[in-house]
Amino acid sequence: MSDFFDKLAKQGKELWESAVSTASELAESAKDTANDLIDQGKDKAEELKLKGQQKDLFTKLGEAVFNEAVNGEEFDKDALLDELKAVAASLVSLDEKRAAALAAKEEVKAAAEEVVDAVEDAVEEAKEEVEEAVDTVGEIKDSIEEAIESVEDKAEEATITCPVCGVVLPAGTKVCPVCGVELE
Ligand SMILES: [Zn+2]
Repeated sequence: MSDFFDKLAKQGKELWESAVSTASELAESAKDTANDLIDQGKDKAEELKLKGQQKDLFTKLGEAVFNEAVNGEEFDKDALLDELKAVAASLVSLDEKRAAALAAKEEVKAAAEEVVDAVEDAVEEAKEEVEEAVDTVGEIKDSIEEAIESVEDKAEEATITCPVCGVVLPAGTKVCPVCGVELE
């Protein structure tokens, strides 16, 4: 029986520890979500800044092309194009960074779901084991009751009752020591 309670206590402890670790992981994941939102805000600001730069550069390029065609003013086409390429590359890497952050977030979410599933399974398993243990205790109780009955039966079989004075004597007694009657 002490094994049973030891096991139950151990399971309870494991379950508690696992629940605490899940709670702390969920708290961590909430913190990550808050950080994600801050990062998303920063990314959005960066995107707007880059798009503004891109628009200004396109305007500058358009004006330069126009002035060259109309007034014959030459301009450094390569320098403007390099600036535009740099802005476009920054926009692409921003998109890639966002995609990577999204994938990482999905991974964390999947991991958290796995932990929750594992705890649920553990609870279910512990419940089943407790039910089994309760059944076992019931079986042990039945066995003890059976054993007591059998001992009582054996005790009864091992005695005789004097038909004259009614005293209970060990089986095989030839003469009643109380009233002196011959038995059997
Ligand atoms: Zn007797």
